[in-house]
Amino acid sequence: MTFLQRLKNGISRFMYGRNGADHLGLGLLWTAILLEAVNWFVRSDAAHNVISLASSALLLWEVFRLFSKNLYARRRENAWFLTHLWQPVRDKLGRAKDKEHKYFSCPNCRTVCRVPRGKGKIIITCPKCGGEIHGKS
Ligand SMILES: [Zn+2]
Repeated sequence: MTFLQRLKNGISRFMYGRNGADHLGLGLLWTAILLEAVNWFVRSDAAHNVISLASSALLLWEVFRLFSKNLYARRRENAWFLTHLWQPVRDKLGRAKDKEHKYFSCPNCRTVCRVPRGKGKIIITCPKCGGEIHGKS
């Protein structure tokens, strides 16, 4: 067995039963990197220290989550992150890219309805609650 294989096996054994990388962890890492990038342009010492502290705290939280063995709690945090932050941002980016459809959300139940663009003034009946949405596609 080569040194690299032994190293790989050792890391695998160490990480067994631990949380590892997930979406929230990546979000924390990228937020910390973004904060550090913003920090390059900050001139005030106090603001610089606060941003640096926040970035370090995010990185510490990420390292804690990476090696945590409390999988139930870490998965619950990740699920909250996915439903409340990740998915809405992903949906918004997907809608911004879609040039063939226009998206309306129902005022009653917040269901998102997709209609083709260029049909003029339309009245959409919400498929979930039956409410009407008036709009221009
Ligand atoms: Zn509705």
